[in-house]
Amino acid sequence: MLMIGLIGGMSWESSAEYYRILNEGVRDRLGPTASARCLLWSFEFSEIEDLQHRGDWDALGEMMVDAARRLETAGCDLLLICTNTMHRLAPGVEAGVQIPLLHIADPTAEAIKAAGLKTVGLLGTAFTMEQDFYKGRLTERHGLSVIVPEEQDRATVHRIIYDELVAGKIDAASRAAYRDIMARMVDAGAEGIILGCTEIMLLIGPEDSPVPIFDTTALHAAAAIERPLVAYPADPA
Ligand code: GLU
Repeated sequence: MLMIGLIGGMSWESSAEYYRILNEGVRDRLGPTASARCLLWSFEFSEIEDLQHRGDWDALGEMMVDAARRLETAGCDLLLICTNTMHRLAPGVEAGVQIPLLHIADPTAEAIKAAGLKTVGLLGTAFTMEQDFYKGRLTERHGLSVIVPEEQDRATVHRIIYDELVAGKIDAASRAAYRDIMARMVDAGAEGIILGCTEIMLLIGPEDSPVPIFDTTALHAAAAIERPLVAYPADPA
């Protein structure tokens, strides 16, 4: 089995979900005692958050490439960046290592297309909802149309991620706010909703949305063990 490298800790709340989903996926595939070969590089998130909000993407880029190289040197065959937001730095990470990077937007877009949908609403940090690095990949590479919440709703979504979800706080009032925001995106034409921040799945499930949701954490982790790149010599199927 090949070794999956996880650049995580952004936040650890979602990295723990990646670890669980990867291991459950391998167990389902190979048997009850099988588990994923992986290495996790876990950042101290308050440092990351501070640099993000100061706009110091150069420093963040250096940290990401350094983490990727450490995982490559340690023997990883494939890299996952366990956050949507930090995919802003994906091109630099890809250029900095020889091993492939599995971009979080790609399995997400594939799932949306497989469901026959074309127009999706995007929830995530302000960086993800407002900058082009993520929406651009969905539109240009995958031909999807992307709707983001109105300005005030984007501020609410962003605040709940940084004040609550990355700190492990799950609040019913915040869930209600997200439900209202998702409903407004559906009114605006969204046929599905991307949970485009890896902690949103801690707050929101399919029952909270009138349209299908696409959980980037689950789709990204599942893709890492579904890809032919990852060899499973003892696959019982
Ligand atoms: N995990 C989040 C995401 O998927 C937000 C934390 C971060 O800024 O990396 O975007």
